[in-house]
Amino acid sequence: MRVFFIGFGQAGGKLVDMFLAQDRKLGSTSFRGIVINTARTDLMGIKHIPMEDRLLIGQTMVKGHGVGTDNVTGAKVAADEIDTIISAIDRRGTHDIDAFVVCAGLGGGTGSGGSPVLCRHLKRIYREPVYAVGVIPAPEEGRLYSLNAARSLSTLVNEADNVIVFDNSAWKNDGESVKSAYERLNEEIVRRFGVLFRAGEVSKYGVGEMVVDSSEIINTLRGGGISSVGYAISEAIPTMKGGKPAAKKDSGGLLSGILGKKEKKSEPHVDIASGEDKSAKIIGLVRRAMLGRLTLPCDYSTAERALVLVAGPPSELDRKGVEKSKSWVEENIAGVEVRGGDYPVDSGYVAAVVLLATIGDAPRIRELMELAKEAKEEVVKSRERSHTAMFDDGGVDPLFE
Ligand code: GDP
Repeated sequence: MRVFFIGFGQAGGKLVDMFLAQDRKLGSTSFRGIVINTARTDLMGIKHIPMEDRLLIGQTMVKGHGVGTDNVTGAKVAADEIDTIISAIDRRGTHDIDAFVVCAGLGGGTGSGGSPVLCRHLKRIYREPVYAVGVIPAPEEGRLYSLNAARSLSTLVNEADNVIVFDNSAWKNDGESVKSAYERLNEEIVRRFGVLFRAGEVSKYGVGEMVVDSSEIINTLRGGGISSVGYAISEAIPTMKGGKPAAKKDSGGLLSGILGKKEKKSEPHVDIASGEDKSAKIIGLVRRAMLGRLTLPCDYSTAERALVLVAGPPSELDRKGVEKSKSWVEENIAGVEVRGGDYPVDSGYVAAVVLLATIGDAPRIRELMELAKEAKEEVVKSRERSHTAMFDDGGVDPLFE
């Protein structure tokens, strides 16, 4: 799928920077994008995106210093400068894209406020679907972040065609701060969505036996609401050369490093013993992807649609395995629409991606909404406890009215 990424705010900008760096590393042109921020320093921290594709907005209002964690100002700045944003997107070229993907951390100010505004306008102007990849904050980041994320997410679900959620708290390790985990979390995000959004693009190995084209991703996400993604990898069996296993293709290949490495602790893994039935291996991998850690932990049985994608060296891909996996997923989700296919890549690993679309229940979202409600009540109370109250009944007249 050819994707136009827009990174809004700091988290969104870093993610899009990584998506585009991944694309460049692969020598591919499937991804393009721009980044937008109200903070000049955050834009300067971007590594791979050319300066002309970094857009500073809100200069008259916040003078390049950012909006803090005020997402109402973030939304206002985006609305005021929407024409400048759309011109920057048009300049980068949109005629051949399949979808827009807006990335943002929903707990902050710029991306949290700006991304729903941008999604509304993109949908109004272009025919292509508009998806959001939204990062939700861990409760430890504070109630203001939860309040911002809850407001942003509940607006975003009405403005984007689908919001795929990544939960920072589900992915950081115990005892680790969210900030120190950013880099690792971003790699996890970009790996999953990189494989998913790349499906159907022609690789060095041509197209898969069961191609997932962009229309299948679009149809899976059609129901709207929020979605989550599961992922699992396993080592591929080394191909035999002269009766001996050939060296494992772990480096130098087209997609090497993209699927991830087995040592990564956060992933559920399967070891593939040689000679084992290929289709059973694929089913095992897909099960682990769906039952393991999802980008947003949720009750998968409430998903309305799903997409199963198996990426790996052609020798590991198996039509029957993908078909059986699709049936297994279908038995386990609420809806009956399960699409799927394979994607041949040059890698020493096989990966399964399961997109669970339009989820009916996710405890973390309910928790976020609850935290936000408490935070809002706290804000009202603190307004009532006005800082001028102590001067109100002193019977002392001000100098002038
Ligand atoms: P903005 O620049 O005002 O849009 O705010 P940020 O992008 O800094 O958004 C704040 C939220 O995004 C908080 O919940 C942060 O924890 C989260 N965040 C910031 N940077 C990153 C990052 O690099 N990765 C991840 N996963 N989350 C981030």
